[in-house]
Amino acid sequence: MNTDKIKSASPHALSSLPYADNALSPVISANTIGFHYGKHHKAYVDNLNKLVAGTDFANLPLEKIITQTAGKADKTAIFNNAAQTWNHTFYWRSLRPKGGGGPPAVLKQKIEASFGTVDACKQELATAAMAQFGSGWTWLVLDSAKLKVVKTGNADGPMTTGMKPLLTIDVWEHAYYLDYQNRRKDYVNAVLDNLIHWDFAAENLG
Ligand code: MN
Repeated sequence: MNTDKIKSASPHALSSLPYADNALSPVISANTIGFHYGKHHKAYVDNLNKLVAGTDFANLPLEKIITQTAGKADKTAIFNNAAQTWNHTFYWRSLRPKGGGGPPAVLKQKIEASFGTVDACKQELATAAMAQFGSGWTWLVLDSAKLKVVKTGNADGPMTTGMKPLLTIDVWEHAYYLDYQNRRKDYVNAVLDNLIHWDFAAENLG
């Protein structure tokens, strides 16, 4: 038995924020980060730990919990909290202070092969974010050898359908409402222009 794995699997920890709570301001305020990371993300982690305690999922790593509960009607609560725990950690890492700009060469080449230009890729991400009805996520993914933009509802992500996530933008209202109210488009464009972490996406190409 691998006790290291058991120790690291449960209880799940709230991953540390990779920058200060005011580091994304003014695009995303410290107030938004305070609620989004300190309340919403933390609640998903806390709920997950309560839900898996004493179950077959208690000692599984987060990714395994997600793939093993996806699409199972009697495991919806565990899936939702596990996936949201993972999605938020990935979202914080998809952003950085003074982000935006141009992607590194290896990613730029793939973006141009799939979308034509970096601007066309950003436009597709923004369009997908606006097209997501209600809560969800917008993703840049690697699907076989091609890059694609996909949108998912609620806690769903691309992992359960075999695509490799490169970066994500949270389009739940809690991600932008304090700063942008109903203006999701302004939030998404500001994130793409000023915060998106292309180097992180390039690392995820693997
Ligand atoms: Mn969120």
